[in-house]
Amino acid sequence: MTLSRWTHAQLESGGWIRRMSLEGQRLRKLHGDDAVADLSIGQPLAASEAVGEAFRAAAAERFPERFEYMPNLGYEDVRERAARDVDFAGVDAASIAITPGAAAAMCVAIRTFVDPGDDVIGIAPYFPEFRLYCETASARFVPIPSRTDLGIDLDGIAAALSSRSAAVILNSPCNPSGHVVDATELSALVRLLRAHAADHGRNVMLFVDEVYRRLTYHPHVALQPLSHYEHTVLARSFSKDLGIAGERIGYLVLHPSLVNAETHRGLALAMRALGFVNAPATAQRALVHLESWEINIAPYRERRDLVVSLARNSGLDAAEPDGGLYLWIRSPWRDTIAAVEALAEQRVLVTPGVAFGAPDHIRLCFSATPAKLTMAMDALADIAASPIPA
Ligand code: PLP
Repeated sequence: MTLSRWTHAQLESGGWIRRMSLEGQRLRKLHGDDAVADLSIGQPLAASEAVGEAFRAAAAERFPERFEYMPNLGYEDVRERAARDVDFAGVDAASIAITPGAAAAMCVAIRTFVDPGDDVIGIAPYFPEFRLYCETASARFVPIPSRTDLGIDLDGIAAALSSRSAAVILNSPCNPSGHVVDATELSALVRLLRAHAADHGRNVMLFVDEVYRRLTYHPHVALQPLSHYEHTVLARSFSKDLGIAGERIGYLVLHPSLVNAETHRGLALAMRALGFVNAPATAQRALVHLESWEINIAPYRERRDLVVSLARNSGLDAAEPDGGLYLWIRSPWRDTIAAVEALAEQRVLVTPGVAFGAPDHIRLCFSATPAKLTMAMDALADIAASPIPA
């Protein structure tokens, strides 16, 4: 075997999202695009014409260092623009590192602030890559199941905190559950972290993955975590809301109290050590050419409402997502993998909850067309009405 043991183990145990998406590609080749509802991967809606135009302008832009190495943390004007987008007192360009997406921002945060052997606490159900990001830094990812209402289980977090705890990862809106953390919840978590610091002399960092921040559905609101806790780093991205996941662009935000020359050197080192070096130049310039970073959330909300009403009409047990791109459904069968396989036979691809640390659920991405969402929910209703296999 030529693969490392770690890589081999990850491939054996995980990779459900990509695995289902590959199955979707295979089925589309066999049966044609219209015959397959692939809701396995979190594809955003198509990028707008304004985004396309910004990339064209960025590609045409010329200045002396246009194609050279640049500062690891990105172009100054992009960092300034991102700081304005954060809109929090004390946040300026010095708080910002432009990164190749939120994935890179999370990896950079972990590499910069977490030591090998440290624990990073997450909340299940969780985005599966969090485990990979931690293990790549030789840290241990410790998922704590959320409460049944998908809120943070503070007692569970309190029990998991120890002298090894370096950070807590929050993801709001959450992939896969759609839960948006509210102010009461975050304040209670912060109280816990402050009490822990008083007892152990160690400030636990808070890494907040905000990839879906602009996809927060009224009446829920995206919090400003920086106003709650000074040991906070945010990971943001344009992958989902601008529909440019392939372009790899996002940014990391340091709480102003974390900004100093040493942290900057640390972030720059992490960008190099992880092999990103800097975020792609053309995508950075496109952000400058884009007049507004705001989006029209209506098409996402319409799909969210459609998929929730289809699920309810079919008697499926699914929480209405407060935000994000996913419907999180209790598996109609106890054997979730069997249910997912039965759906695949009907050419509907979803991801089993085991990928997210909650094996009794199924996740589906609702950015597909209404026709495909209806096809998927019909198949799910059909399975829910079928006898559970022995
Ligand atoms: N974090 C979460 C919770 C995600 O769902 C995703 C993508 O699905 C990412 C990070 C990766 O985002 P990006 O494309 O910005 O790296």
